[in-house]
Amino acid sequence: MGKSLKTTYDSIAIMKCSVCGKNVDQTFLKKLVGTYVKDKKSKKKPVCKVCQKTMTMEQIKEKL
Ligand SMILES: [Zn+2]
Repeated sequence: MGKSLKTTYDSIAIMKCSVCGKNVDQTFLKKLVGTYVKDKKSKKKPVCKVCQKTMTMEQIKEKL
């Protein structure tokens, strides 16, 4: 045995929603609680689930 799992909390970057600017939660597997939406430049932007719920994809893309 002798293997030690090093927890690297430093590597967890806080993602912010590109629409409302709030922090987007991530699961312990670093999966975003929300989604990524590609903007006009095909750049992936994080969008929280609240914005996903309250806005259409068109509205979200306008704000990216
Ligand atoms: Zn949001």
